[in-house]
Amino acid sequence: MNFSSKLLENAVAEFAKLPGVGPKTALRLVLNLLKNEDSEVENFTSSILNLKHHIKYCNKCSNLSDDEICGICLNSKRDHETICIVEDTRDVMAIENTNQYFGVYHVLGGLISPMEGVGPSDLKIDQLVERIKENPPKEVILALSANMEGDTTIFYLYKRLKDFNLSISTIARGIAFGGEIEYADEITLGRSILTRVPYENSLIK
Ligand SMILES: [Zn+2]
Repeated sequence: MNFSSKLLENAVAEFAKLPGVGPKTALRLVLNLLKNEDSEVENFTSSILNLKHHIKYCNKCSNLSDDEICGICLNSKRDHETICIVEDTRDVMAIENTNQYFGVYHVLGGLISPMEGVGPSDLKIDQLVERIKENPPKEVILALSANMEGDTTIFYLYKRLKDFNLSISTIARGIAFGGEIEYADEITLGRSILTRVPYENSLIK
């Protein structure tokens, strides 16, 4: 692209770094922002800076939070003896939307992926094991995406957790293999949590 302005080019280059945004879309977004009032553009930039500077990871479950402990972990009405293990905050949002789950969460921050160089120590797995040692739950639900990385992570977690006195279940795979949790519709996802199965049953003996 030939830009008439270096300022415009720089702004477009930043937008084009966002996932799924190509140069043409980036240009359209920047031109659209330019049409806005100064105050609107300032709100836009300050909300991103505030997010980056002030967001925290919950000390217990590692979900994104404004405070040291998130609202779900603080809620005494939730079942703290059931921990649902998920990849990231989008999965927490998707499962909360089903209104079918009342336990707490543990957010791993990714999945084990040898191809992308993501190992267990890059995820919040040690924190999970510590959490379980300190406050043993009755059940953990492995609600991870049905793909290679999800299965690898589930198997690794099973090995780390199987000697604790707790039941380990996986969500029923109404979610197709290759399917990601956040894209599952609420009814399918809600049902797959309710009809979860003990993980051992799904292992090939
Ligand atoms: Zn939390």
